[in-house]
Order: sequence, then structure tokens, then C-alpha cells
Amino acid sequence: MELDQAETAALLAALELQIAWGADEALDEAALDRTRPREPAPAAPPAPAPRPALPRPAAAPLAPAAAFAPTAVRAEELAAGVDSLEALRDALAALNHPLRETAGNLVLSDGVADSGLVLIGEAPGADEDRQGKPFVGVSGKLLDRMLASIGIERARNAYLTNILPWRPPGNRTPTDAEMNLYTPFVMRHLALVRPHHIVLLGGTATKALLRRNEGITRLRGRWHSLEVPGLGPVPTLATLHPAYLLRQPAGKRDAWTDLRLLKRALDAHSGRS
Ligand code: URA
Repeated sequence: MELDQAETAALLAALELQIAWGADEALDEAALDRTRPREPAPAAPPAPAPRPALPRPAAAPLAPAAAFAPTAVRAEELAAGVDSLEALRDALAALNHPLRETAGNLVLSDGVADSGLVLIGEAPGADEDRQGKPFVGVSGKLLDRMLASIGIERARNAYLTNILPWRPPGNRTPTDAEMNLYTPFVMRHLALVRPHHIVLLGGTATKALLRRNEGITRLRGRWHSLEVPGLGPVPTLATLHPAYLLRQPAGKRDAWTDLRLLKRALDAHSGRS
């Protein structure tokens, strides 16, 4: 069977990824001939029904954010008052928090805001802090290669953000208080960009948004439903963080399984299955 250019490029990208990952074991019992027409995809997560336009939040007059002690309750109120990505950036930049003092740049997002696919990480690292963009360091490079293997590119069809917009000193794990403080802004961010699918990269994003006690190894590899205020339920996949995969290469097998799950859902969403 003849492959067209795009199919050949996708197969080569998948192969390159596997070589880069040192894959030396088959994932499935039987070999899969990717040059054959695909079988119908198994049931994809329920596609969200068309949604009404995002209701504008009740316009409570806001005093400058920095004037308030940043409590989670106050964060909810501030986040609810945000009605554009620019306003979100301004509100985060104004929020008076110790992380702001130790970090260099606010890191909000990268990619195509209206792509329908949002990937959420933990917090910026040193490279992200320097450049003011998420996932530009070594784990970001791995993430880019992982996504390329299923035809996703941040410049074309994905949007990236983090739970925290500031780098924690020494790249330490965000505290529960920091996650609670910034999660309302992440939820508002989601309501503004209106994804049809979300991917949570690692335990911090999964804990902050799914609010479940189980660890990432239990929650990964399946679809959850995240209720986004003003948007509705969004199919949400939890998977391993690329930084974890750099430390624990054995996890790449599970990550590849998750990527295939994502690809199937995206294909089903775009009617390509
Ligand atoms: N790790 C993250 O979780 N986010 C980034 O932006 C970079 C590394």
C-alpha cells in the first residue's frame, strides 16, 4: 500500500521517537501493520456538546490584585474577574506572592490558544523562567518529540501551560498552598481557551485539577472528566511528566500507551477515525 507524504512523515516521527527512547520491546501482542487502513477507533471519551458562549463573570469592581494577601479565596474572586488572556496575565503578574520575588519571568503559555488541546505541566524550570515560555528546557524538548510522534506541534495544534506561573526556587515541588492559590487561575485559563481535550502532565497537575488522592501511576492512562466552570466537562487524560521520563526511562512505555490513547481520541474528535 502506498503511503502519502504525511503518513510517511508520521511513521518516521514515531520510529524516531522509539529509537530516541531506546524502545526494544513490542507493546502489543501482535505486530501492527500501520500501512493498513485503521480499524474503527474504540469508544472515545464523550465529545462535549457544543457549548454556549462563555458567560462573562459578574463584574465585581476589583481593587489592584497586589493589594490583597493572596489567599485561595481571594484568588477565586480575582480569577473570576478575568475575561481575556491579557487580563489573566495582568492578574497573575499583579498577585503578590513570594514566588514572584524569586522568579525572573512570568510563564503563562505557549502554542495555539484555540487549538482545542491543552497540556498542563507543573511549574516553570530555569530555562522556562529565563525565556518566559513553558516547556522550553530539556523536558520540553522530549515533550515536543513525544507530541510530534502523534502529529501534534505546539506551533500548530496544541497549547501548553502550567499550574504555577512562576518558577519555584530550586525547582522544588509546588506546595499544596501554592497549588490551591493558582488553580482557580488555571481553571479560568481553561474557560477562556475552551479546549475539547486536556492532558495533565505529571502528579502535580493531576492532583491540583482532578483533586484525587491516588498518585499519577494510578490515575494515568485513562480519561477523566474535568468540570471547568463556564465551559462544562472536558475529557482529561493524566499521563507521566516528561521530566519523570528523563529520570525513569522505563516509564516511556506507559507514556507511549497514553499518547496513543490521546491520538485515538483526537482522531475521533476530528472525524478521522
Ligand atoms: N516542567 C513543567 O512542568 N513545566 C514547564 O514548563 C517545564 C518543565
